[in-house]
Formats: sequence, structure tokens, C-alpha cells
Amino acid sequence: MRFNKVRKMDISNGPGVRVAVFFQGCPFHCPGCFNQDTWDFDGGKDYTCDIENKILEFCGKEYINGLSILGGEPMAPANIDSTIHLAKRFKEMYPNKSLWCWSGYNFDEICNKDILKYADVIVDGRFDKSKRDPRLKYAGSTNQRAIDVKRTIQNGKITLYED
Ligand code: SF4
Repeated sequence: MRFNKVRKMDISNGPGVRVAVFFQGCPFHCPGCFNQDTWDFDGGKDYTCDIENKILEFCGKEYINGLSILGGEPMAPANIDSTIHLAKRFKEMYPNKSLWCWSGYNFDEICNKDILKYADVIVDGRFDKSKRDPRLKYAGSTNQRAIDVKRTIQNGKITLYED
């Protein structure tokens, strides 16, 4: 399992000031993707226990609102176990901070549903260049949805996140 980068303070991916982790490797290769350096599953750097501990330490800062997990593809078979491991530890340590995940899989396509126990919001779907809209706050194209995971489960239907 590999990662591309960690940002200690990120204000571009989710609400407030966040820690952002970009995992390495994406099977989708969407035309127009602006994270192409994350596509190669052999690229980036080793994701070690030390890195995960550092990420969780960064998340503990009082000004950090939450953790964002992006890619690459965090839900790809090569990455999902590490995504869930990090998500679980994060929520155990910081139950009042939010966890956001971005995935190229549509919500229904996510194979390992354990991530739904920990993620507050999942922004789903592949980037579609023909539907690109720079006004979107959390997505790149209009087919992608910021899904409120808990309310979606409660309601039994996709329920979008509202600020
Ligand atoms: S799913 Fe995301 S990271 Fe993967 S190619 Fe598409 S836009 Fe890029």
C-alpha cells in the first residue's frame, strides 16, 4: 500500500481546516483528472505505521476540523484495507471530528461497506470532463455527489450533505 502525499493543513477538500491524505493508485484514469501522478499503484511512497501515526497526530491539533482521504482511489482493492484502518483509528481517537472520503466508485459500487461505519461524507463517482463545473464546492463534475453517509443509511436512499 502506497501514498502520494499528506497535507497537515488543507482548506480545499472538505469543510474547515483539515488533514488530507492522498493514497496512491487509481484504476479509473478519468480524462482531465488533475491528480494523474496518483494513478500508478507503484508510485508514491510506502504507507507505514509511522506515517499513519503522524497523520493521526496532525489530526489532534485543536484547529483541525477533520480528516480527508483522497487519491488516487482510496477504495481500490489495493488501498481499501489501509483506508478502513486509518478511518477506524481516526474515529476512535476523534469521534467529534469529521471524516470525508473521495472515491471514483459510485456509492453502490463500494465493495467493502465497512468504510460506511466511519465516513461522515463520501464524495462519489468518476470525474466527467463533459460535466465539469468549477463552482462545485466539493466535487469536480456535476455527476459526483457529496453524500451524507449516516443520513443515507437512516433514510434508505442517497441523501446529500448540506453545509
Ligand atoms: S477517480 Fe479521481 S483520481 Fe482517479 S482518475 Fe478519476 S479523477 Fe483521477
